[in-house]
Amino acid sequence: MAEPLAIGEALARVLEHSRPLANEEVPVAAACGRVLAAPALAAVDLPPFASSAMDGFALRAADTPGSLPVVARIAAGAPAGRALAPGEAMAISTGGVVPDGADAVVQIELVDERNDVVDVPAVAARDNVRPRGSDIRAGDEVVPAGLRLGPAQLGALAAAGVTAVRCGRRPQVALLATGSELRPAGEPLGPGEIYDSNTVMLEAQARAAGAAVETLPRVADNEQATREALARGLAADVLVTSGGVSVGVHDLVRRLESELGVEEVFWGVAVRPGRPLAFGLRGDTLVFGLPGNPVSSLVGFELFVRPALLALQGAGDPGPPFRPGRLATAVRRNKARDSLVRARSRTENRVIALEPLAGQESHMIARAAAADALVLVPRGEGELAAGSTVEYLALR
Ligand code: AMP
Ligand code: MG
Repeated sequence: MAEPLAIGEALARVLEHSRPLANEEVPVAAACGRVLAAPALAAVDLPPFASSAMDGFALRAADTPGSLPVVARIAAGAPAGRALAPGEAMAISTGGVVPDGADAVVQIELVDERNDVVDVPAVAARDNVRPRGSDIRAGDEVVPAGLRLGPAQLGALAAAGVTAVRCGRRPQVALLATGSELRPAGEPLGPGEIYDSNTVMLEAQARAAGAAVETLPRVADNEQATREALARGLAADVLVTSGGVSVGVHDLVRRLESELGVEEVFWGVAVRPGRPLAFGLRGDTLVFGLPGNPVSSLVGFELFVRPALLALQGAGDPGPPFRPGRLATAVRRNKARDSLVRARSRTENRVIALEPLAGQESHMIARAAAADALVLVPRGEGELAAGSTVEYLALR
């Protein structure tokens, strides 16, 4: 293996080749998790009219303090139908249209009302009135291009009267697990066999990153079967394989891909776990070869494949989204490679404390199930002390 690349360098090479795909119109209600390809603009002023922030009485601040006749009752969605005249009050619900002529709302808790007359204290102009367009103006940007839409963005778009948005299309991902030892869960294990964990895991990871996934039937370490499956997978936007990228005699993936026209960009990243990760291109297809050890696949996906999938969708910040936290107990560094250590997070005085789990070997996927974070432990001598500030990736 050539000198393995540092994580950042490898990621830069992946992203360099992960250009946004075409975009398409998506109904807002179906756009959660999609990436905006163009800014989404408000169709209406928000609020669309001056509205009341409280249940209370609309009036003119200049008429307060005083006793005012209540001349109308305004419910949300049912405007008064006439302007408020000097000296009048109108009962109004939260979200009701503040009538022309009124410049304030006094909240119901502050007044006495008897026989359609209300005694009000002194009120300042604009109190409890949400001016038209004070949240956003028609034509202004509700959500910028490059942002991945979540529930808050969908709510904002709906409020602003937007029905559909332009989003990067979902990348088509072909997923292929290789290994003669693999069986699907539900079948009895023969001698030397293990259950295929990577297919179901990587499929879930790819879907969570916004991809449309085609899972190819897993293949044994057999040239003909592997070649045919790879050829099929290369028709996708992204081919992700697991296993068969190390140096063993049964590790066929890189050689067969090369025969099928894949140009390797790199093989080998200075990361633990996941060192023999391969990345290449055939035409516009991105080709990731993840090492078969399940934790290596999990980590390799989060570090490289997920950012690529988000970049293909046009994400402005494809990640991976490392955040600061504090190491709860010391961990040994690896001399040559940066490590991603499985850890459990908890909040301590508003700081994320990260507790590394026992069992950090790359085959220990069951141990990794207890983790909700991957802590980046930079390569070096000795150990990283408890209390050190570290960067971590949340495992969703
Ligand atoms: P490989 O990268 O093919 O050399 O595989 C490395 C290790 O990961 C071996 O112990 C394999 O049995 C295991 N492995 C490979 N693929 C999978 C998979 N899909 N699910 C679970 N373990 C796997
Ligand atoms: Mg294998």
